[in-house]
Amino acid sequence: VLVTLCAFIFSLQSTRQRQALEHLAIHDPLTQALNRRAFDIDLATTLQTHQLSLSPCTLAIIDLDHFKSVNDTFGHEVGDELLIEMVRTVRIHLRKQDRLYRFGGEEFVAVLPGADAQEALRIAEAVRARIEQSPIASCGHSIRLSASIGVHSVAGGQQATPEDVIRIADEALYRAKDDGRNCVRHSVS
Ligand code: GH3
Ligand code: MG
Ligand code: MG
Repeated sequence: VLVTLCAFIFSLQSTRQRQALEHLAIHDPLTQALNRRAFDIDLATTLQTHQLSLSPCTLAIIDLDHFKSVNDTFGHEVGDELLIEMVRTVRIHLRKQDRLYRFGGEEFVAVLPGADAQEALRIAEAVRARIEQSPIASCGHSIRLSASIGVHSVAGGQQATPEDVIRIADEALYRAKDDGRNCVRHSVS
């Protein structure tokens, strides 16, 4: 009985360690959003699936506005807290099937499978408005952030490479920045 019990505990520990390692491999340690490595793998698979199933798919790149000056004013630790809080805020508006990745720095990407342009714009606008309207309390400061969002929708059945989808969403993001920030811009192909 003792040997069986020890074997059971050992196998339970091994399973937990494996699960922890798997989690580390695909999540950003700061924000717990999925990481860039997971994004690169998932986007290719998602686009293939949606081309075959003839359903649309949308990518939204969310970039915090003037985040460097937020860091310069309040410090890097406060900046870190804001990034964590920002991910929580974005998640409120995502659907169950959506996935959020940290693309790098203060830039995040949401993959919205099955969302056409109209649905994606509704979600992106809700995210943008929530970020603008949710001051974050940190170290005695109440800090207001805003985000610019570039959205690109791929129609069902349409061929698109991950590189194309990222580039076009990025162009939309640049338009949002050029148009004064704190707004959503969209490209359809
Ligand atoms: P823009 O509105 O044009 O996007 O301006 P910006 O200041 O947000 O953009 P910029 O690319 O100039 O600066 C990004 C800043 O994000 C600089 C960097 O210090 C900060 N940043 C990136 N990663 C982290 C992080 O993990 N923690 C903190 N606290 N800051 C980060
Ligand atoms: Mg920025
Ligand atoms: Mg950026």
